[in-house]
Amino acid sequence: MTFDAIVIGSGQAGVPLAARLAAAGKRVLLAERGELGGTCTNTGCTPTKSMIASARAAHVARTAGRLGVRAGPVQVDLSAVVDRKDSIVRRWRESVEKRLKADRLTVIRGHARFVGERKVEVAGEVHTAEIVIVNVGARPLLPPIPGLEQVRALDNGSLMRLRELPAHLLVLGGGYIGCELGQMFRRFGSRVTIADQGDHLLAREDPEFSSVVEDVFRREGIELLLGTKTTRVSQRGGEIALELGGGKEVRGSHLLVAVGRRPNTDDLGCDKAGVALDPKGFIEADDQYRTKATGVYAVGDVLGGPQFTHTSWDDHRLLFDILLGQGKRTRRDRLIPYTVFTDPQVAGVGLTEKEARQKGVAFEAASMPFGDVARAIELDETAGQMKVLVDPKSERVIGATIAGAEAGELIHVFVTAMQAGASARAIVDAEFVHPTFSEGVQSLVMKLDRFALH
Ligand SMILES: Cc1cc2nc3c(=O)[nH]c(=O)nc-3n(C[C@H](O)[C@H](O)[C@H](O)COP(=O)(O)OP(=O)(O)OC[C@H]3O[C@@H](n4cnc5c(N)ncnc54)[C@H](O)[C@@H]3O)c2cc1C
Repeated sequence: MTFDAIVIGSGQAGVPLAARLAAAGKRVLLAERGELGGTCTNTGCTPTKSMIASARAAHVARTAGRLGVRAGPVQVDLSAVVDRKDSIVRRWRESVEKRLKADRLTVIRGHARFVGERKVEVAGEVHTAEIVIVNVGARPLLPPIPGLEQVRALDNGSLMRLRELPAHLLVLGGGYIGCELGQMFRRFGSRVTIADQGDHLLAREDPEFSSVVEDVFRREGIELLLGTKTTRVSQRGGEIALELGGGKEVRGSHLLVAVGRRPNTDDLGCDKAGVALDPKGFIEADDQYRTKATGVYAVGDVLGGPQFTHTSWDDHRLLFDILLGQGKRTRRDRLIPYTVFTDPQVAGVGLTEKEARQKGVAFEAASMPFGDVARAIELDETAGQMKVLVDPKSERVIGATIAGAEAGELIHVFVTAMQAGASARAIVDAEFVHPTFSEGVQSLVMKLDRFALH
């Protein structure tokens, strides 16, 4: 059949694009080979954050004594935790299904692949369209470590389906997925070991932010094997063993592999359509999402840029405007904040100090321990650190990182100021409510000499 637009993948950009293009009068086909809603809904943000909420409840109950509250022994019913997570995921998936029941919008379930220029085959039929939008996302990467393919390794999806608690969970990879899931299972009651070849967890961060998470993890009993490369994986009876450099070995009952994500382009027929891929298989596209093939656009994780739900969703807004001739912004000139949902959270926007130095960008910086914030002391949530970087000439914020309670909420103070192009002085001059964590953000900015009260 012939459509105005074909969308491949029901990820965070594909669903709203398909629905809005149909509402704008286009005849749209959306193809999805898995569950509707993509990674975020089914195996990413929604399930992790739902289960992290249970893990935090266990932690708060277990440590309530620090606030003078005595609770009995804490028991985690993993099956009930998974049931709750599943019901939240189901609710989101149903709302996606509902959104896709629209006039002029056809949904076909099946694997789609290009068979020619703007020709897409799905469920045994070939369809054509003036434009094709690729939103196929990414999946867990299995690194080429000898023996890894011979053991039963878990990924984020299968780990969150376990109904029995692993006795000892080994986590390969200290990025945000490994950290979030590692801490979650430690708080559920598993012994947890995280191994990473880098010297720090969350490698992108300035070391003092990685250290906040590392200190908390160690205090909670998570074993960290940093700066150690895993050279072989093997099954030893009922256990999985990681061989690490220097003859060291660690064994556990389960293994989670969380070392990165690979794009879902290997069976997409990109060569048939003239869509170019980079050496890692990500789709090459310009700042208006145009691939090398005329009329074919790519959005979301498959572009290989920052892989976040909000980024893919923003891709949809930008591309929709571009397609309808209303685009003003491009994907290059936008801010991409992020949050690691460990406890404490780590959130950032703009440049880290490390990046500013590498790029030779002039900056003035101020830092402050999160534990200096009144609210943090009152709630006994003192772990953390904050840092802001300001352009000395314009006084605009060029980067901020916060490790601390609700850092993912706090970072939006900076996101908004940066988006508005406002001077950091606006944060200083505003009245912030006492006692809040946000008040600490204002105190941080006032640590810069130029804003200090004398
Ligand atoms: C454990 C985990 C936690 C995460 N937590 C967060 C978080 O807290 N915050 C955040 O912002 N981001 C988070 N992310 C990242 C986030 O999930 C993704 O960035 C987001 O889903 C955007 O993906 P997307 O729109 O590119 O595509 P996806 O959501 O990956 O969707 C792609 C869809 O395309 C389908 N598909 C693929 N190939 C084909 C084909 N050939 N034919 C038909 N259909 C196809 C897939 O089945 C899938 O449904 C997390 C990811 C993981 C793994």
